[in-house]
Amino acid sequence: MENTIAAISTATGNGGIGIIRLSGKNSFEIIKKIFVPFKATTFEKKGYIIKYGYIIDPTNNQKIDEVLVSFFVAPKSYTTEDMCEINSHGGTIVLRKILELCLKNGAELAEPGEFTKRAFLNGRIDLAQAESVIDLINSKSENEAKASINQLEGYLSNKIKNIKNKLLDIMADIEANIDYPEYDIEDVTNNKMQVCLNEIKDELIKLSKSFENGKILKEGVKTIILGKPNAGKSSLLNTILKEERAIVSEYAGTTRDTIEEFVNIKGIPLKLIDTAGIRKTEDKIEEIGVNRALKLAEGADLIIAIFDASKDLDEEDYEILEIIKNKNSIILLNKIDIDDIHLENNEKICSSSNNILKISAKNGEGIDELYDLIEKMYSNNEIDMNDGVVITNIRHKNQIDKAINSVEEAMNSIENNFPIDIISIPIKQILIDLSVITGEDVSEDIINEIFSKFCLGK
Ligand code: GDP
Repeated sequence: MENTIAAISTATGNGGIGIIRLSGKNSFEIIKKIFVPFKATTFEKKGYIIKYGYIIDPTNNQKIDEVLVSFFVAPKSYTTEDMCEINSHGGTIVLRKILELCLKNGAELAEPGEFTKRAFLNGRIDLAQAESVIDLINSKSENEAKASINQLEGYLSNKIKNIKNKLLDIMADIEANIDYPEYDIEDVTNNKMQVCLNEIKDELIKLSKSFENGKILKEGVKTIILGKPNAGKSSLLNTILKEERAIVSEYAGTTRDTIEEFVNIKGIPLKLIDTAGIRKTEDKIEEIGVNRALKLAEGADLIIAIFDASKDLDEEDYEILEIIKNKNSIILLNKIDIDDIHLENNEKICSSSNNILKISAKNGEGIDELYDLIEKMYSNNEIDMNDGVVITNIRHKNQIDKAINSVEEAMNSIENNFPIDIISIPIKQILIDLSVITGEDVSEDIINEIFSKFCLGK
């Protein structure tokens, strides 16, 4: 890139240290103007080194901070360009002042994600890897972080590359066929193509399916707690949120009248949609109507239906049981500390869910079993982190689905004995569909959109 960029890369606020980054061909020239090392130095043109010294304002020689500056000589840097990282003390004023000095001395303020964008544009990482950087930064659970680091290491990219290599083999056969029609090799090729395309289709379907797990890793299991008033919804929520193990992070609700909380239960991120907040308006308890509950339940991955087991079921309870039918659900028979127990053998309850637990939201009895159950439902069979690649990104999933369609089209045209040059069209399309994931065949708009979601300084 022509220009040299600079930004504060550490989070805003005061911290022990802060980092300002510079990247571009004038990085060293700029740093020489504002950095005075303790020991006279040449900025060697190889590898990386760290120098200790002062940042000064060259206009008046005023010392700004005592710093360490790392020098990364191209191509051995995050962006592959000449880069410096200034480790200063982490106060906002100091960081801003140093950034300002960089800008006054020839750098331009980086756009969000521009360092990573350069790493991509300069060919050090591909687009899927670049996207994994932001996912890693934003990870909300260890498993999500693991999926992201795998992707950064190139698991997905390698998988895509392998599939593309197989397709390139097929294309080579096709070209040979087109170039040397006198050899009657078409049947063999057709057969070979079919076997290969079948394999590719299986691999792509597996990848596409992994998105469901990836989505859970990224967005959490979207969970709602349903129950009639006084069944114990708020108590349950409080118990879960108070547990140390359930690491809670705040999460802005998508709708005005629900609160979403992220909890991490035994490594499974749950996005709890708290409907409790809906009810309390102007001191009078306003119920969430059945329609509203229905609507919420529709979009949920998991419904936790809670019943007051010290009482018999009433009309409202039956409505809730109706809602959870055929959905992923857990039934909690609550308040077992009061009375053991009315509903355990209730036919309607037993037929509505496979997962029924007795709990006391008040004293915490049964909560461990609830956690075990959630772990069982979402970890063993669903999220297998060791089986390599998990798609976490909707853009990747869409491209893979497109590629699957193109594979099917290619298979159809082979079955229909279309001429080989016609068959080659959807095969080329698969290659294009997959190249969009790794960024070899992607529009500038998409690239810009992806990097605009990054934070400044990354
Ligand atoms: P919500 O309306 O469904 O949110 O229900 P709350 O959580 O507000 O609980 C309603 C009432 O039932 C409160 O007085 C709670 O203290 C009580 N309660 C909730 N869970 C239990 C429980 O497990 N045992 C007992 N004894 N009382 C409970």
